[in-house]
Amino acid sequence: MSLRWSPRVETSRVEEFILKRCAKKRKLFVFLRLHRHELFDDEMQERLAAAYGKRRRGEEPVPPAQLAMAAVLQAAFNIPDHDVPEMFVMERRWQMVLDCADANEPPFTQATVYRFRQRMIEHGLDKVLFDKTVALAKKTGAFGAAKLRAAFDACPLYGAGRVEDTFNLIGRAAFHVVRTAAERLGKSLEETAAAAGIPVVAASSIKAGLDIDWDLGSARRDGLRVLLSQVGSLTAWLEAELGAELARPPLSEEVATLKALVEQDTEPDPDGGGRRIKEGVAKDRVISLGDLQMRHGRKSKRQRIDGYKRHIAVDVDSPQFIIGVAVTPANRPERDAAKELLEEVESRGRPIGELQIDRGYLGDEHIEARRQAGMDVVGKPFPLHNHGLFTKADFHIDLAKQAVTCPNDVVVPLRFGSVLHFPDTACAACPKRAACTRARHGRSLSIHDNEPFLLELRAARRTPEGRHRARARIHVEHGLARLATRSGKRARYRGLRKNLFDQRRHAAVVNLRALATLDLTGSAL
Ligand code: SF4
Repeated sequence: MSLRWSPRVETSRVEEFILKRCAKKRKLFVFLRLHRHELFDDEMQERLAAAYGKRRRGEEPVPPAQLAMAAVLQAAFNIPDHDVPEMFVMERRWQMVLDCADANEPPFTQATVYRFRQRMIEHGLDKVLFDKTVALAKKTGAFGAAKLRAAFDACPLYGAGRVEDTFNLIGRAAFHVVRTAAERLGKSLEETAAAAGIPVVAASSIKAGLDIDWDLGSARRDGLRVLLSQVGSLTAWLEAELGAELARPPLSEEVATLKALVEQDTEPDPDGGGRRIKEGVAKDRVISLGDLQMRHGRKSKRQRIDGYKRHIAVDVDSPQFIIGVAVTPANRPERDAAKELLEEVESRGRPIGELQIDRGYLGDEHIEARRQAGMDVVGKPFPLHNHGLFTKADFHIDLAKQAVTCPNDVVVPLRFGSVLHFPDTACAACPKRAACTRARHGRSLSIHDNEPFLLELRAARRTPEGRHRARARIHVEHGLARLATRSGKRARYRGLRKNLFDQRRHAAVVNLRALATLDLTGSAL
């Protein structure tokens, strides 16, 4: 391979000086300088090189391993793309780690930083880099040989796109369509908007273009009517003027987005025809035109998330290292990431003997299949609240007899994954009714698909040993806090895959910092 990176292993006198200065507060520089040849060994360099085909004209001949090291430093010290080439010539610690002490000119441009990131995403090199840091941690003996005790948890990753209301979503989507149409026709945006009958997109903002008194009760209905009428005019004009062009991206995608946004946020108005803003939130609603994959979601009743959820897995016995990473849209339940996390953790070479999970992962079929096969699952069951009335804990669920007995000894058959109803007549005559239900009819009781497992979790919570075991999950919460502190609460990029890249890269940095803190500057690796 022509673009192999072969930095020196032995340290120079100048490097010794820098290493000494970094030894206390900047251990990551020390670790990367002394162990860069292990991080980017032959196998790693071959994996990176495999992502390179023929070099394109204008691309600088920079070894991919050196670019990958720059990507690690960029995440570790939160450096914007345009400053990365500058660090090669301006920052001595970067020069030491990147083996370019004498560089007077940046060896590449900002565009190379962007292209390399795209290449890492296309070829899954972010996962390769993250896996390599886990492999280095494994070499230190941090993970034992016994069965793994893993823990999963998730926290919000607020999206980088601006969250917009229905008017701005539809109006700005129409603006993108008009802008592309204007480019195709070689005309100005204002000319094209006027010709297409949608002047609202040429105004300083969509709301200004609609020019409506938003204090009036009818403002939203009137504003929507004007906006949708202009969108209709745009659609008809596009068919007439740019029929053939409509099948080509980006116009085809922009028109599809516009139609989807109108469909998701509006519905036929039963009062007077036309369309009105949909009541409630549409399922899988797009919330930002800047990032079409962002979603509204919740971590709890009070905590709303606009964007994504990031998930991590740690080994409870070596919690300083992150061993699994996933990102999901914020509207998806935590359990959607379970399969990816399980497979990633299992690929580390040890079977999972015990899994600590947040209750959001409960009910996942992949976790359940492994539990049935012998994996021990520890977690908090769903809380039982019922506004001061009897909760499920007050009913006796008899798995052997397949029956549920209420506090007044009325028995109904047990059916998993359904709502059980106690007879109206029994509840109406019941002396305990006031403490049980305020429903007009009889009391109902939801039974989970996996109620036997929930019963086990509730029983475990009642014992000191069970509560002690559940507390081990605190380690994964610390790991999440480390990742969120380093990578920030808000996403750096737009789109799920780019954010998965960023979270994996930051997880790799968390692992490298943990290795550096273990003071492995000698021969532990
Ligand atoms: S109200 Fe119905 S379910 Fe509740 S204790 Fe009485 S009989 Fe049982």
